[in-house]
Amino acid sequence: MVTLSARAADDSIEKLAVAPDCARGLDWIGKNADWVTQQQIQLTEIPAPEFSEGQRAEFVKKLLESAGLKARIDKTGNLIAERPGSESKSVILLAAHLDTVFPASTDVKVKHDGNRLNAPGIADNGAGLAALVGLARALSESRIRTTKTIVLAADVGEEGEGNLRGIRALVEDYGQRLAAVIAIDGASMEHVTTQGIASQRVEVEIVGPGGHSWSDFGAPNPITALARAMVKFSSVPVPESPRSSYNFGVIEGGTSVNSIPTSASVKVDLRSEQESQVRVMESALKEAVQSGVREENAVARANSDPLKATLRSLGVRPSGKLPDNSPLLDTIRSVDAFLGSRSRLESSSTDANIPLSLGIPAVSIGGGGKGGGSHTPAEWYDATGREAGLKRLFLITVALAGTQP
Ligand SMILES: [Zn+2]
Repeated sequence: MVTLSARAADDSIEKLAVAPDCARGLDWIGKNADWVTQQQIQLTEIPAPEFSEGQRAEFVKKLLESAGLKARIDKTGNLIAERPGSESKSVILLAAHLDTVFPASTDVKVKHDGNRLNAPGIADNGAGLAALVGLARALSESRIRTTKTIVLAADVGEEGEGNLRGIRALVEDYGQRLAAVIAIDGASMEHVTTQGIASQRVEVEIVGPGGHSWSDFGAPNPITALARAMVKFSSVPVPESPRSSYNFGVIEGGTSVNSIPTSASVKVDLRSEQESQVRVMESALKEAVQSGVREENAVARANSDPLKATLRSLGVRPSGKLPDNSPLLDTIRSVDAFLGSRSRLESSSTDANIPLSLGIPAVSIGGGGKGGGSHTPAEWYDATGREAGLKRLFLITVALAGTQP
């Protein structure tokens, strides 16, 4: 694996920032933060639910091409633009995910409310994608020549059941050439995600004979069994350390109020800072389901067919952690010190999980500005601080890539 050279000292960032090419890039950012926000509004208004990111990818492709980059869409659906350095063997990858958690029917029109822009997906990941576009333009305006090759990607499949397939394909393609990976996700500059949360997404389905609510009363009910299983699982304590969580996110089952359903299912998200804890929770879930089914079968009338349960994996995310003394983190800290911004380290489940799980230095950071209500219809974004976020991203990228005279 290509390694990043040692820590860029604070004064080296200062020197870097005043070098004529770098200064041109920073100057462009200073004058064009509003333009970046306009692109963010446009791309947010193109729906991009998981597995349907194509139209948004085409829009971002045009923006990268207008920044003078050659862009292509790979077979996974990722949009990729390379900015060659003098060493093609060493790559800095910046990736912003294209997909949102919102179904295609969601109203994604951006509504203005003072400084706030309201729309599902405006921050996650409208802010990240806009920052990627802004970074591409700033790099080309700067005419800076770098040592390492900079790869800018808008990738698919970060949310929901996408199972990180976009970043998986990118990391597989660039493999050993990756010196560092930066996922640009959301707005906030206040945190740097250096630890990937392990997760397992499972669909539990319980099926049975079904029947008429009156004449077949006493036949085992999949919804009741599922409810028993969920209550059981919820009573299992979740450790605070390693920090762990679970969520019953989608529940389905039944066809009418007076029919005993033939099936019921729930989608469950299990997460932990430690992979082994995810497996512990997964087996607790299995046990809870089996016991819910057993209990429901036990009270059903004697001659009815029993319920059966299956668990199906919807995706696994491995965990990983960036060492505290990583040169990547040092560079981010130096740029933050130069810009006078503060950030704390955090753990989260992002595109950075994949490189981190393979020992490739990676972080996930926000693109600048403020945002909130992510994954809800009340999501908002405020571009105050956008300029600082773009400058930060630009300086981190250039410092990592190394400059050529
Ligand atoms: Zn995101």
